[in-house]
Amino acid sequence: MRVIAIDGPAGSGKSTIARHLATELGVAYLDTGAMYRAVAFAALRRGVDPGESDLVAAIVRDLELEIGPDGVVVDGVDATVEIRGPEVTKAVSAVAANPVVRAELVRRQREWVASRGSAVVEGRDIGTVVFPDAELKAYLTARLDVRAGRRHQEVSDLDYDAVAADMARRDTVDTEREVDPLQQAGDAVLIDTSDRSIDEIVADLMERL
Ligand code: C5P
Repeated sequence: MRVIAIDGPAGSGKSTIARHLATELGVAYLDTGAMYRAVAFAALRRGVDPGESDLVAAIVRDLELEIGPDGVVVDGVDATVEIRGPEVTKAVSAVAANPVVRAELVRRQREWVASRGSAVVEGRDIGTVVFPDAELKAYLTARLDVRAGRRHQEVSDLDYDAVAADMARRDTVDTEREVDPLQQAGDAVLIDTSDRSIDEIVADLMERL
């Protein structure tokens, strides 16, 4: 089994780099953020407050969740577009701070990768918790203005200041939560993606394998 762990905050370029690297290596790609978003989506759809930890824990236990290269299906409903929307983005940090949710999703992430043999896995805790023995760990960062600019391009219906403020809020919640906070693994390669091209970063990582 070959696992490459890509961690970092929102807008650091994780998804783009992880996808390119997976293609280059001919292995699967897993976006674990999409799984946390899917749980937030399920809670909102059932009218459950994402902060109600017992209710959200009950949802995640028997949630039907399919994560594929083309999208995310939650309880039979295609949620690919909606999990990127502002409601889910707002709700996701509360869901991700729930220890029952984390334990269940980590279990599913390990199972997902084991069934495919190898993968590039992106998230917040992949190198520290999910796959501490990964062959290569990269921790991506970028300046807040660069990260907010990238996200703003993706969701152009929100103004830049709102995107930057939401991003700073999520950074704080993700790094300060008690369970598996966002942090760089001691043995991860730190890469600032602010002023480097995708190809350059992918080539750099390929050389480290
Ligand atoms: O990567 P993305 O921005 O889609 O992740 C959404 C949220 O899911 C993050 O803000 C974080 O709260 C949570 N997350 C996490 N652990 C992961 C991946 C995502 O806590 N491995």
